Amino acid sequence: MKKALSLLIGTVLATSCATSPTGRSQITLFPDSQMNQMGTAAFTSMQKSQKVDSNANNNRYVQCIVDAIIPELNKVAPKMASTRWETKVFVEDSPNAFALPGGKIGVHTGMFKVATNADQLASVIGHEIGHVWARHGNERVSQGFLAQTGMQLAAVAAGEPTAQKQQLLGLLGMGAQIGVLLPFSRKHESEADEIGLTLMAKAGFDPRQSVALWVNMSKVGGQKPPEFLSTHPATQTRINDLNAKMNSAMQMYQQARAQGKRPNCRL
Ligand SMILES: [Zn+2]
Repeated sequence: MKKALSLLIGTVLATSCATSPTGRSQITLFPDSQMNQMGTAAFTSMQKSQKVDSNANNNRYVQCIVDAIIPELNKVAPKMASTRWETKVFVEDSPNAFALPGGKIGVHTGMFKVATNADQLASVIGHEIGHVWARHGNERVSQGFLAQTGMQLAAVAAGEPTAQKQQLLGLLGMGAQIGVLLPFSRKHESEADEIGLTLMAKAGFDPRQSVALWVNMSKVGGQKPPEFLSTHPATQTRINDLNAKMNSAMQMYQQARAQGKRPNCRL
């Protein structure tokens, strides 16, 4: 058992010590290819279970914002450049949006009522892309996996039979489902906010509108959607954190505008 455990620790350390875009160390146990497959599969099934919006204006609007942000992502994250991003609008009243590993972005039509201009929607989309770039899904599945099944991982690492590995894959699938359904942790939200602020500013969207978005979001009563359900961080904390980074974001924004980046995305 000791041997298996030390092997486990060795394996985890060897394969999974990663650093997030903001310099936070993270444990990501699963290969990106596997996470991308899970994200793609989840996205496909969502398109079957939810109504995809065929409104051309809505789709053009969201795509325009995604198209402005992705080149900025690829500049700061060359590893992401091979991702073929796909965007869908879903006819759903809840003001939600998400992005999945594999480069799948979903925006609910209800988001248009809360993110009331392109700059605000760019801050939503930048935030979601931030979750993907920072591999938050992988980190979350890995954390759950380590918490629940460290012993099984030890067995797999020690080369136990295939049944164990199948169980592992089953958990992974479950993790993917939970990944879609549950909100991210506070540190993931803060990190996605920070990345989103940078990406939107570099793309020429007004970063100050990220604060306006969260003010609007705080006024949404009743049932909040999963991704934005999070009462963490509290809206005011979020706004304070964004404002603390606003000077540097404004510099990026002004530089982008000077370079002629003036995305003209309209609903
Ligand atoms: Zn988020």
